Amino acid sequence: MIGTLLLYCSRVSKKCPGRIKIIPNYLTLSSHLFPLTKNIILKRHSLIIGMVVPLPSVPISCRIIALVQERNSLFSYPLDHLTDTIRATGFQCKCCGQCCTRAYNGHVFLLDRDSATARTIDPASLEPAPDPEFCDQNGIFYVSGYAVRTLGDAAGSCWFLENGRCRIYDRRFSVCRVYPYMLRRGVDEYGRVDWRHIMRLFLHGALQQEIPIEDCLRIARETREYENAALAHEIAFLELMREYFAEHGLHHDPERYDQAVRLIPTGKPVTVMVYHDQDLEEHIVQGGSGAD
Ligand code: SF4
Ligand code: SF4
Repeated sequence: MIGTLLLYCSRVSKKCPGRIKIIPNYLTLSSHLFPLTKNIILKRHSLIIGMVVPLPSVPISCRIIALVQERNSLFSYPLDHLTDTIRATGFQCKCCGQCCTRAYNGHVFLLDRDSATARTIDPASLEPAPDPEFCDQNGIFYVSGYAVRTLGDAAGSCWFLENGRCRIYDRRFSVCRVYPYMLRRGVDEYGRVDWRHIMRLFLHGALQQEIPIEDCLRIARETREYENAALAHEIAFLELMREYFAEHGLHHDPERYDQAVRLIPTGKPVTVMVYHDQDLEEHIVQGGSGAD
């Protein structure tokens, strides 16, 4: 059961090749907690909000508790500190459009409110998010939400990217609004866990620009609100999965997970249940395209 999940490193180095396979019997929440930039995973450990958690030994209830604790940590983080960091960093977007491609940033994970917006604008823009968290003994996947489909080009451009610009800018999604700011714990290449504030610092945009303090405070508030919403979404998904599995006599089956993942490249259809708004929506995915 090797290599069904891929994780992306934001700092390519000799230690980290940039894209590595992990043993998938490690819990990964990457599709929700790292909606745009997946994080460094080294030494066969999966980083989950500062913890390394092996999947088989961690019941869903424990994961929920861990996420609740993470939410508490989020709110204990001083907003003034984040505001000061934003001001000191002075990041300015250069509108290069790179962050709207999967080649640069992975998929755009959608919270429920975002999925609802995307459905209003163009239902075809939605697809089940990659890297489903669970697979039951019948080979059915479960994933915590939707992602934005790509245009199918080599870069994996967002469905809404047009001539390097967002064509739904005023209605863009939650993570698009806060990117590249973040407020979550991550681990560096030395294994140190600490808070991170800006994705891909030094790799895009301009730094040391003047940002009015009121803008810094607004960004800080919006960033924390987004991180809280992402955690709340994940908790709600896990709570539903706990009940759903219990009610239907199902359980996560790592072997079936692996088998089902291997089916995808063959073009055989697989069923993916997508969490949305306190419910699961069924999709038949073929060839990994996300098409129904
Ligand atoms: S919705 Fe707009 S801002 Fe968000 S990733 Fe797509 S093109 Fe970029
Ligand atoms: S946030 Fe960064 S990657 Fe995205 S458009 Fe701006 S400069 Fe480019």
